[in-house]
Amino acid sequence: MAEAQVRQPDWIDTGPRFTDSDASRLNRMFGKADALGMLAGVIKDRVAGNVAVVSSFGAESAVLLHLVAQVDPSTPVLFLDTGKHFDETLAYRDELVRLLGLTDLRVLSPDADVLAAKDENGLRWSWDPDGCCDIRKVEPLARALAGFDASITGRKAFQSSTRANLPRFEIDTSDAQGRLKVNPLIDWDADAIASYFAEHNLPPHPLVEQGYPSIGCSPCTSKVADGDDPRSGRWKGWDKTECGIHSVNNPDVAGNGDDGELPPGYEPAF
Ligand code: SF4
Repeated sequence: MAEAQVRQPDWIDTGPRFTDSDASRLNRMFGKADALGMLAGVIKDRVAGNVAVVSSFGAESAVLLHLVAQVDPSTPVLFLDTGKHFDETLAYRDELVRLLGLTDLRVLSPDADVLAAKDENGLRWSWDPDGCCDIRKVEPLARALAGFDASITGRKAFQSSTRANLPRFEIDTSDAQGRLKVNPLIDWDADAIASYFAEHNLPPHPLVEQGYPSIGCSPCTSKVADGDDPRSGRWKGWDKTECGIHSVNNPDVAGNGDDGELPPGYEPAF
């Protein structure tokens, strides 16, 4: 008679992938590593699991993408195609992908039904930029990141007060999944970025020389006077500093955004 089989109960782990103590441990582990060494640990040694880079292909994006390409050019690179980008940004994206040999660009688009229902004429940005960002950035990114354990961002502390105290590893609080958010360039300043561009002969975004030091969607990006805060050209005239993709516990990422409040937050390479 065959030996009785002991039935193993099905087990589905629904807990968060990472916790604050994991982030603290990784911050200690990579406390002295440079950006390239840290990225090697994240991408090659998979200390943060399955990762993707999130890039806006903006004014400074080439630095992070160049570093990532040195470690592994097949790393997934997520680009939010909001439908509102400058043509120059789309051309620059394609130029960098080719130049750096990136082989896994993933273009994320807004849900067509949500767009039709909530931004039929494409002008939501003009009266509800938070809601527009929810539809065109937050929701598509949330969908894409569901398949990853961590995202790599290009945020830097010097860019704004909301980024001043960011660690290199943090928990992505936009949902309860417990993904990690990895900020390899958080301690880089403007001079370090400029030096890296020069040292590696990286092409600038074509709009930088036209007076746009921080570049997002065309309706929400203005030129900035010399000496002014680079991000002051984003959502000019609105009490808004970030696009919401780094928002805390955004319960309805495709929500109506009608309250006009920007959740406390942050940003990826945007
Ligand atoms: S940056 Fe402006 S156009 Fe782009 S998604 Fe946000 S509100 Fe809409």
